[in-house]
Amino acid sequence: MSKKYCYLFSEGNAGMRELLGGKGANLAEMTNIGLPVPQGFTITTEACTQYYEDGRIINDEIMAEVKANVEKMEEINGKKFGDLENPLLVSVRSGARASMPGMMDTILNLGLNDDVVAAMIKGNPDPKFERFVYDSYRRFIQMFSDVVMEVGKKYFEQLIDKMKEEKGVKFDVDLTAADLKELAEQFKAEYKKQIGEDFPSDPKVQLYEAIRAVFRSWDNPRANVYRRDNDIPYSWGTAVNVMPMVFGNLNNNSGTGVAFTRDPATGEKKLMGEFLVNAQGEDVVAGVRTPMPIAEMEKQFPQAYKDFVNVCDVLEKHYRDMQDMEFTVENGKLYMLQCRNGKRTAQAALKIACDLVDEGMKTREEAVLMIDPRNLDTLLHPQFDASVIKKAEAIGKGLGASPGAAAGKIVFSADDAESWAERGEKVVLVRLETSPEDITGMKAAQGILTVRGGMTSHAAVVARGMGKCCVSGCGDINMDEEAKQFTLAGKTYHEGDTISIDGSTGNIYDGLIPTVDATIAGEFGRIMKWADSFRTLHVRTNADTPEDARKARELGAEGIGLCRTEHMFFDPIRIAAFREMICADTKEAREAALAKIEPYQQSDFEKLFEALEGYPVTIRFLDPPLHEFVPTEEEDIAALAAAQGKTVDEVKAIIESLKEFNPMMGHRGCRLSITYPEITVMQTQAIIRAAINVTKAHPGFKVLPEIMIPLTCDVKEYDFVKKIVVETADAEIAAGGVEINYLVGTMIEIPRAALLADEIAAKADFFCFGTNDLTQMTFGFSRDDSGKFMNAYYDNKIFENDPFARLDRSGVGKLMDMTIKAGRPVNPKLHVGICGEHGGDPTSVEFCHELGLNYVSCSPFRVPIARLAAAQAAIKNK
Ligand code: PEP
Ligand code: MG
Repeated sequence: MSKKYCYLFSEGNAGMRELLGGKGANLAEMTNIGLPVPQGFTITTEACTQYYEDGRIINDEIMAEVKANVEKMEEINGKKFGDLENPLLVSVRSGARASMPGMMDTILNLGLNDDVVAAMIKGNPDPKFERFVYDSYRRFIQMFSDVVMEVGKKYFEQLIDKMKEEKGVKFDVDLTAADLKELAEQFKAEYKKQIGEDFPSDPKVQLYEAIRAVFRSWDNPRANVYRRDNDIPYSWGTAVNVMPMVFGNLNNNSGTGVAFTRDPATGEKKLMGEFLVNAQGEDVVAGVRTPMPIAEMEKQFPQAYKDFVNVCDVLEKHYRDMQDMEFTVENGKLYMLQCRNGKRTAQAALKIACDLVDEGMKTREEAVLMIDPRNLDTLLHPQFDASVIKKAEAIGKGLGASPGAAAGKIVFSADDAESWAERGEKVVLVRLETSPEDITGMKAAQGILTVRGGMTSHAAVVARGMGKCCVSGCGDINMDEEAKQFTLAGKTYHEGDTISIDGSTGNIYDGLIPTVDATIAGEFGRIMKWADSFRTLHVRTNADTPEDARKARELGAEGIGLCRTEHMFFDPIRIAAFREMICADTKEAREAALAKIEPYQQSDFEKLFEALEGYPVTIRFLDPPLHEFVPTEEEDIAALAAAQGKTVDEVKAIIESLKEFNPMMGHRGCRLSITYPEITVMQTQAIIRAAINVTKAHPGFKVLPEIMIPLTCDVKEYDFVKKIVVETADAEIAAGGVEINYLVGTMIEIPRAALLADEIAAKADFFCFGTNDLTQMTFGFSRDDSGKFMNAYYDNKIFENDPFARLDRSGVGKLMDMTIKAGRPVNPKLHVGICGEHGGDPTSVEFCHELGLNYVSCSPFRVPIARLAAAQAAIKNK
C-alpha cells in the first residue's frame, strides 16, 4: 500500500509524533479532545524525507494528496482559496518531532492577492479593518518573498523605512491603510525586480511554494547547528502544518497571546503569559507594543479567558506536563493554535518534575525521564544573566567545550592571567591553544577561549576537569599572540579589552555580560536520589587533585575512574623535578630525579585516598609524550641546565631529541614503562605507600588502588609492565606490614587491544576504555586538530556529530562491544569502565549502559549528568 502523506487534524493523535511532528501531533490531539482548533492538515515528516530523497522535489503522489487535503480543508471550513465571498487564508508552519524553536520557517496570511484583499475590504467598511487587511497583505508579501523566495528582508525594510520617513512617522503602527496599500504595491514591484516574475497571485501556487520552503528550511544552516547541539538526527525531517488563519488583529474584540501553565523560569504552578488586543502573533514577539499580563485578559474577554483557563487545565491533565500554548481570540471566540510541553530552565524542570510526582500526575521514573541531563550543567556553573544574554549578539562561535559563563578582560598568556587575577582583575585567557604550562593561568582566569582544538583538546579536557568555562576552536579568530591582539568579526581586540564567552553554546560576545551564581534547588537532590535508585551503571570521576575529588564526591561520584598522574606536575616546583627526570641521560640520573618526585606523588595519592573515603581510586601511569613537559622558555631551559649540571646547549639537544613526528602515536603510555621501568617502579611505590599510610590512619577505609596501564596494545607488553607493578607492590606491602589489596588493569584505547581483548583479559583485573584515544586511532583523526575540517563533514552530511564528543556507536562502539564480549568469558571478574570524555555525554552514557559497562567516569561537574543519564538509560531499557 502506498504511504499516506497528509493527515487532517481530525485523523491524527499525540502518539503520531514521529510522523506528524510535535506540532501536528498536538494539533490533532487537541482536536480529538474537543478543543477549539482551526481545522487544517499536516503533511508528514516522511513527505519531507521523500522530498530530499527525490532530489528536493515534491513528487506527484505527495502533491496529489496535498491537493485533495486542501479541498477537504476548504469544505470543513466553508471557505475557499481565492474565493471573493469566503476566502480561505492559512498559516504554513514547520514542525519537527523535537521542537526546534525559531529554526525553521513559518508563513502567515497565505492566500491573499489583490482580488481577495479588495473583496475583504468591500465586505467590511470599518476603516480599521481596511488597515488590517492591507497590513496583513504587505506582511504576507514580505514574508513570502523572504522565506519562500529568499529575497533578502532588507529590501522590504528599506521600503518601510522610506515610507515612514516620507510620512514623518516613527512606528509601523502609525502607517495608515493608504500607506500600507501603497507599500504592498511597492513590495510586489520589488519582488518582480528581484525575481523577474510577478508575485504569485494564485493561493494554491503560494501554498505549494510555501510547503517546499518549509521542507527546504530543514536543511538551513541554523537548523543544522541546532540539531547537532541537541542530538536531533537529520534523517527525521520536518512535517508541515497548514492551518486556517484566525485573526487576532480583526478588531478590538480580538487578540492573541502565548502562555505557560507553569512558570518556565521557576516552575511555580501558576498561569503565566502575555496577551495583546487587536494583534497578530508576531506582534507579541516583535516587541513593538507591550503585551499585558495574561490575567488582565479576564477583564476584556471574560468568556474567552474562562475558556482558556479551562483549556489549560484540560491540557495539563491530559499531557501531565507543563504546557506552552499559543492562542488567538477572534471576535470574542478562543482558538488554540499550538500546545507543547514547554521549554523550561533546569531549575524549573526539577521543580515541575517533583511537583508532578507530588500531585500524583507522574511516577518517579517518569519524573526522572523528564529532565534533560545536559541542562543540569547550568545548575552547576555561573550563568549569564538571562535577560541580558537574550538581547546580546554573538561576535563569534567556537565549540562549547566546558559549560559556564565567563566575562572579563582579555589576556594572552597564562602568566598575565595569573598576575592580573592576583591584582583582582577578572580575565578571559585567549590562546591559540593551551599546553600544560598554562594550567595555573587557566585556573586564575574566569574562562578560556582558544583558536584551535576540539572537544578533547588540552584546554577542553582540563577546563572541564576544573569546572571552568571554555570555548575552544574558534577558527574565525585571527590571532597575533606576539602583538597581544586578535581580530574577530571585523574588530581588533587588545589586551585589557573585554569579552564574554558562553561555554555551553560556544558563543563569544563583545563586552562584559553580567553573570549570576548557580543555585542548587532542593528538588535537585530529590531527583538525583530517585535517579540513583534506578540506575545500574556506576559513576566515577576523572580527578587528579583532592579538591576535584572532593567536589566529585559532593556531586555523587562513586570513585575515581581516572587519575592522570601527569597532571600532578603542573605546579612550578614539581615541574622542575619532572623535567630533570625527562632530560636525564642515564638511569642513575633518572632515578635521582624520580626520588625527588616520589614524595609529591605519594602525598597526592594519600590525599586522594582520603578524599575518596574507601571508594575505589584508579591511578593511571604516566601517559603523555614527554616532550609536552620540556621547557620552552630560555630561562626555564637555563634553570634546568643549572639543576642538572649541563650546558644550555646540551639541554637543548636533549629537548630536540625528544621531538616526534606523531607524538600522540609516539613514545608515550606504557611505552614509557618499557623504556624506563624505573618510572613504573616509582609510581607503584608511591601508590602502595600512600595506600598503606591511609589504611593505617583510617582503619575504617577499605583503600583499594586500581593501577591502570595506559595505551596497551599487546598482552606481552602488558605482562612486562604488570610484572614490575606486582613485584614492587608486593615488596612494599610486605615491608609496610599492612594488608593492602590492589588491582592491575589496562586502558583499552588502541584498536589492537580491543581486537586481542581475550588475551589481555586473562591477565587484567579491569579494562577502562580511553575513548579519546580509541576514537582518535579508530578514525585516524587527530583529537587536537580534527575540529579544523569537521565542519566540511557536517556540511556534506557525512557526520552529524563530533565523534570526540559523542561516542561513535557503529565503529568505536563495535570495538567496545567486541572487547567486552571477548574479555568477560575469559575473566568473569573483569570489570569494565570508560574514562574518555564520552563518559559524561548523556547519549554516550546510554550506550555504555546498553553495552553493559560497570561504570562511566567523567569530570566532576559532569557526575550528576552521568548519574541522571544512567538512570534514564536503565528506565528506558527496562
Ligand atoms: C582517553 O584516551 O580516552 C583517555 C581517557 O586518556 P587521555 O585523554 O588522557 O589520553
Ligand atoms: Mg588516552
